[in-house]
Amino acid sequence: MDLGIKGKSAIVCAASKGLGKGCAAALAREGADVTICARGAEALNATARELAADGANVTPVVCDVTTEAGRKALLAACPNPDILINNAGGPPPGDFKDFTLEDWRKAVEGNMITPIALIHATVYGMMERGFGRIVNITSQSVKAPIPALELSNGARVGLTGAVAVLARRSARSNVTINGILPGPFATDRLRSVNQKAAEARNIPVATIDAERRAAIPAGRFGTPAEFGAVVAFLCSQHAGFITGQNILIDGGGFPGLL
Ligand code: NAD
Repeated sequence: MDLGIKGKSAIVCAASKGLGKGCAAALAREGADVTICARGAEALNATARELAADGANVTPVVCDVTTEAGRKALLAACPNPDILINNAGGPPPGDFKDFTLEDWRKAVEGNMITPIALIHATVYGMMERGFGRIVNITSQSVKAPIPALELSNGARVGLTGAVAVLARRSARSNVTINGILPGPFATDRLRSVNQKAAEARNIPVATIDAERRAAIPAGRFGTPAEFGAVVAFLCSQHAGFITGQNILIDGGGFPGLL
């Protein structure tokens, strides 16, 4: 299927690795021009070279997307994106009793305020031009809170609520806003969460991995490539009637009907 996004410009945040990289690769494969960012130059430039080797037009921007200066640099490189994929590193695990207000502010800044700022800066231009696709990478915790990730649970649900009305308002201008809720995907983030869980229980990380895989009906972790493919479809010309949705990709892990 031709997704109809050849030549569209896309910003993919936090895309040197993991889910962001999966999204950038899928959009680039469809012929979109991608502007990608991450804090570390080495991994970001390596990813940019990898994507460009397949013929894509890729602009890497080394920045921390959770800062105003970082977002300014990103938007300077791609001022009028047709596609925006919001993403950033997730907050650390821990226990409510140990979190400071500063921890909460950091989580909300990174995973709620940052995407809101980028949406605010880009959505009205998209509406004027009559095409836009915004995808917020959130978490399965929007459907069911994850005990070890309370900071993440709070910030993700905040973002989901914050854009729900706008996602309906923008639809008339062919601009959609959707959330994608990843379950467990095999990325550095998952490896570090599993490592911390292993340390807390004083057992090998391989045991945690095996337990987690066994709890997923698909019997495995997801891959960034399959995540990217779903996001690319949501960014396609064919997906203009899907907005304000929160789509779980978790190998069947969530037990509810809806
Ligand atoms: P990852 O650690 O594999 O990759 C994160 C990417 O983001 C890297 O490229 C990193 O350089 C970049 N990055 C991190 N903070 C940044 C910042 N402030 N500014 C710019 N770039 C930044 O992580 P991932 O697994 O791809 O996770 C992406 C998001 O999805 C995270 O918010 C994570 O919490 C969430 N998530 C992941 C999973 C999973 O199983 N992998 C599940 C649910 C939610």
